[in-house]
Amino acid sequence: MAVIVDKAKCIGCGSCVVECPVEALDLVDGIATVNPDKCKDNGSCVTVCPSNALTLDPKAKAKAAPESKAEGGENKEFSPSEPMPKPVADYAQTAEKKAAPVAGGDVWSGVWVIIEYNHGKIAPVSWELLGEGRKLADAIGCELCGVVTGYEVEHVIKEAFAYGAEKVYTMDDPVLKDFRTEPYADAITNLVRKYQPEIILMGATAMGRDVFPAVATRLQTGLTADCTVLGIDPETKLLQQTRPAFGGNIMATILCRTRRPQMSTVRPRVMAMPPRVEGRLGEVIREELGMTEDQVRTKVLEFIGGDAKSIFLDKAEIIVSVGLGIGSQKNMALVEELADTLGATLACSRGIVEAGWMSHDHQVGQTGVTVRPKVYIAVGISGAIQHLVGMETSDFIIAINNDPEAGILRVANYGIIGDLFQVVPALTAEFKKRLQHGVAN
Ligand SMILES: Cc1cc2nc3c(=O)[nH]c(=O)nc-3n(C[C@H](O)[C@H](O)[C@H](O)COP(=O)(O)OP(=O)(O)OC[C@H]3O[C@@H](n4cnc5c(N)ncnc54)[C@H](O)[C@@H]3O)c2cc1C
Repeated sequence: MAVIVDKAKCIGCGSCVVECPVEALDLVDGIATVNPDKCKDNGSCVTVCPSNALTLDPKAKAKAAPESKAEGGENKEFSPSEPMPKPVADYAQTAEKKAAPVAGGDVWSGVWVIIEYNHGKIAPVSWELLGEGRKLADAIGCELCGVVTGYEVEHVIKEAFAYGAEKVYTMDDPVLKDFRTEPYADAITNLVRKYQPEIILMGATAMGRDVFPAVATRLQTGLTADCTVLGIDPETKLLQQTRPAFGGNIMATILCRTRRPQMSTVRPRVMAMPPRVEGRLGEVIREELGMTEDQVRTKVLEFIGGDAKSIFLDKAEIIVSVGLGIGSQKNMALVEELADTLGATLACSRGIVEAGWMSHDHQVGQTGVTVRPKVYIAVGISGAIQHLVGMETSDFIIAINNDPEAGILRVANYGIIGDLFQVVPALTAEFKKRLQHGVAN
């Protein structure tokens, strides 16, 4: 028998029964009981047990992780007599090089990126993450894989290869046509349980922020949301997940030392877009969702698309961003007219949000959205560091400010030093004139 049950510790929660992919566990008189004929020693039940009542038989562990060594304690494994560690969130332990024992052993391998596809659109952050995932996979010597779930997704699989995935796991099913948490979380969770990746990444988009916590809860592992920097220790394979914390006052690096997979959502536009190589191919692993429409509680009645003005900031190509230099809410019409003329998206500094003149989802910066448009026009924004970190990687920055010492001018490609109440109307009029005459630049 592979899995050993400590009856004194078992609380009869049934997590292991739900977890086991081969139905080798059952609750008998409220205690987990293993069917030795069915058990395949994969250890996933050990990972989910909240009371540390399950351990892997040492012979099974040797089979599951033949290359792992217990020398010097660096890759120390569990012995059946040792309690499994509790799931813990680890803060600021980057100085701690030594790997903690990982629940479930060394079977976890591969960097996965969940490719976000909904209503015919692929979220570009998926490709940014394939670029970042490549670096992580190279550092620890494993495969970079894409996960494509949805309906009629063949073209998405091709794109995933073009942006660098070596392998794609896919579930193509009409139930996955519209995004809904339940079937998407099930799809990702089942793939993870079966193939056991070391790391999974997804964009910190509305979809990523919705589905990833559900997946992490089902897998009983840690999730760091909204990361802005990722790194990895090649020795311990610990993902260093950095994100603003305590209202943006510090950057925290978070490790998930004892649970797998390591899960992060990453802000769009903070990672560079990798090159697209047309025609690049890879391996496709197709799996069934195993769920029917009548098993899903949520129904999509209608999909209402957004208008141009409600375009997500992180995807905008031209942004007109306004700061407190605008003076009062009634003057906002000036920048709105400039944005309308250019077909740009309107954004702002935190000063404007605090004044109550625009909502927080328009705020650019450390505690707002990170943007990377082709053109960023900053109007009456001083350029505090918390604002700059959210926009300084824009392709082309134009700043309008009456203070020649303003910080924004240091990152600007063009600085217009002057009174915005004169400069902005003049610019708007000139753009209108040129656009009417079809002049592109
Ligand atoms: C933890 C933390 C997180 C933060 N996160 C963010 C964030 O995500 N995003 C963010 O933006 N800020 C953030 N801030 C706030 C940030 O530090 C600044 O206070 C804020 O960005 C200032 O906004 P502002 O540039 O609009 O205003 P100000 O700093 O007041 O700048 C106004 C600018 O307008 C110029 N000006 C005035 N009149 C005119 C005129 N007539 N013509 C031309 N120029 C004119 C002035 O010279 C000045 O440079 C954060 C702060 C903290 C402490």
